[in-house]
Amino acid sequence: MYRILIVEDEESIRKLIKLNLEIEGYEVVEASKGKEALKIFNEQRFDLAILDIMLPEINGFQICEQIRLNNSSIPILMLSAKDSTQDKIHGLKKGADDYLAKPFNLEELLLRIQKLLQRSLPQEKENIDIFTFGENRINLKTYEATGTQGNFVLTNKEAMLLKMLFERKNEVVSRQQILQTVWGYDVYPSTRTIDNFILSFRKYFEKDPKKPEYFHSIRGVGYKLVLD
Ligand code: CA
Repeated sequence: MYRILIVEDEESIRKLIKLNLEIEGYEVVEASKGKEALKIFNEQRFDLAILDIMLPEINGFQICEQIRLNNSSIPILMLSAKDSTQDKIHGLKKGADDYLAKPFNLEELLLRIQKLLQRSLPQEKENIDIFTFGENRINLKTYEATGTQGNFVLTNKEAMLLKMLFERKNEVVSRQQILQTVWGYDVYPSTRTIDNFILSFRKYFEKDPKKPEYFHSIRGVGYKLVLD
């Protein structure tokens, strides 16, 4: 199911769009403020984002710019109260894919969303991002996973860390390398944070989290994902 993030501070418009998208079968997550929107965006997986321009704290242009720093492919549709060419050009420059001026026709909004989603369909083979080990299955594109407790959805950081461990399976990966790859220039978390991620992975994917078969800690160095 397609997941759409809608960022709009006017509750009545937000609810209206949400309701209509849900009727069309989309899963919708709402945010009313910029910072909240970025936090949600970084923690979850979305197929499309709808951004209002005039928002408290951080405006839609800035959100768009922040999203594009790490994600060049997600379709972004911007909404504006003013039908100004200047706004439109500015939005497209910041990386938006489409632009709709308020008040808009709901049918038009839905059609544009459909078009954007079709255009962004992955061209490459889908199973490139699917990893299986034991009875576990992880889709690094959709973040959907099946572990010892059943189906669940990974967070963005969990998926990034798993991807790194898969790419370097059976090698020791240092905490420093993990910090650089997964957290980049963000505020560095403590190494304790990484330990907690590994503890979560054991809970998700190990038959006995106390005796890990896959996710090993190498004392004083880092971690190793052991796969046959
Ligand atoms: Ca607004």
